Amino acid sequence: MTIEPTDENLIVGVIGAGAMGRGIAQVAATGRCNVKIYDTRQESSVEAVEFISGMLNRAVDKGRMEEEDAKTAIARIEIIDAMVGFGDAHVVIEAATENLNIKRKIFAELESVVADDIILVSNTSSLSITTIASECTHPERVAGFHFFNPVPLMKLVEVIDGVRTASHIPDFLMGLGKRMGRVPVRVADAPGFLVNQVGRGYTIEAAHLNSEGVADYVTVDRIMRDAAGFRMGPFELLDLTALDVTHPATELIYQQFYDEPRYRPSSMMNTRMEAGLLGRKTKQGFYAYEGGKQTVPEEAAAPAYDGRKVWVSPTNSDAHANVTALLKTLNANIDEGEEPDDVSLVIVMPLGLDATTTTLEEGANPEHTIALDTLFPLSLRRTLMKTPITKPDYADAALGLFNSDETEACIINDSAGFVAQRILAMIINIGCSIAQSGAATPEDIDKAVTLGLGYPHGPLSFGDILGPDRILEILLSVHEVTGDPRYRPTPWLRRRALLGVSLLTPQS
Ligand code: NAD
Repeated sequence: MTIEPTDENLIVGVIGAGAMGRGIAQVAATGRCNVKIYDTRQESSVEAVEFISGMLNRAVDKGRMEEEDAKTAIARIEIIDAMVGFGDAHVVIEAATENLNIKRKIFAELESVVADDIILVSNTSSLSITTIASECTHPERVAGFHFFNPVPLMKLVEVIDGVRTASHIPDFLMGLGKRMGRVPVRVADAPGFLVNQVGRGYTIEAAHLNSEGVADYVTVDRIMRDAAGFRMGPFELLDLTALDVTHPATELIYQQFYDEPRYRPSSMMNTRMEAGLLGRKTKQGFYAYEGGKQTVPEEAAAPAYDGRKVWVSPTNSDAHANVTALLKTLNANIDEGEEPDDVSLVIVMPLGLDATTTTLEEGANPEHTIALDTLFPLSLRRTLMKTPITKPDYADAALGLFNSDETEACIINDSAGFVAQRILAMIINIGCSIAQSGAATPEDIDKAVTLGLGYPHGPLSFGDILGPDRILEILLSVHEVTGDPRYRPTPWLRRRALLGVSLLTPQS
């Protein structure tokens, strides 16, 4: 094929006129491509073109698009009633129902109607591009072109190399993606590709934390929003994406990685899915919904600090200095002794260890101890953690004290790595495992995750900001306490942390 992705005569075929197909057709048309759209339900194609017209006309009304440009874009879309109509297309993007048999049949029929060098791509979210291509006569012209929902708003597109994809095909798709106004990122075929693999870290770890009785859904969401800076908490996100979409995709990624413990699904998600607690879709999920609006229980007012003495562990000197400085501004009654007074509230600041292990290692009284998470700045929501036997009056005093300047504070049950430490370490470790596999460049991993998932930073930059050595310490400690191999650090992370270099450092 001699045509360039910038050629003005480029014809792009779209198969499937559902949520994704219509979005892809829209951005192809606004990218000045001639578009042919086909759906077995022709009404879907008609509805899709009406929908796109509505979207573009609204953009004109809001002054975001010229009327002439909208009219030309709409006129570039042609509905076809059979796949034979793709005979003159240069690229065909399949966005039909997520089912391997349906997709294989579509690719077989396509190969019978298009020339041998026409590019065929799939927008699949969870199927292997290599598997889809495996029954094709020309697997070398098959690749993945993975858009995100809603397509016009989500700038990212993953360009996926199947094992047998010829390298000029993704090169062409990178150009086409840009023409369609997207930011293309090149990824090797792997379960969940890039973005959906990293996204597992956020939701699965949250579900495991909840299943272990560490914290309720709302508290986990509050910590991840207010302290870690995520736009949505993991449970809010699960309610939005719906458990019947997220959980089966999680199961598939886990199976495709041959039971890699990092991706192990949570049985809690399965039972809730089977109970029909899907989220916004069924108006009942981790949150309740009234009139389409999520109802969030109010956070209980913190008890007042009763003025008791507070002793801060000196084990971590930086954290000790920060916490002591904060306590002074809170007018706490600081116990400055080398050892805590018998009645003092003891504050420990573990990285990755639970409150129990830390307390015993430091020789403090577990009935009087509260752990404080210092991974994120103390000016943000503060997470406190009890040992199983912390006395309620000590927990109340700590909560009252750390809430006394109106900065929110919450208290959770004992957990190796609190909530945010564990979730962040998991996301960063998964990012490192993708970098290590060479499936994408470190820069592209971060770019794809910030664009595709809206995280405050990509996993590797997040690791650099929080400190690779601290993330390594968290993972090693959580691994030690839980004995669970899902927390074993990747060699990519371990080596860069030990060398004191950025997690974005590629292999020389
Ligand atoms: P959808 O159910 O909204 O639309 C699928 C469309 O395909 C339907 O209109 C259906 O009539 C049509 N179709 C089914 N079989 C067909 C065939 N043989 N030939 C032509 N058309 C056929 O689904 P969707 O959400 O648009 O997803 C489409 C693809 O995009 C899937 O592979 C999905 O995994 C992927 N994807 C979805 C999302 C998402 O958030 N919805 C995000 C990224 C990728």
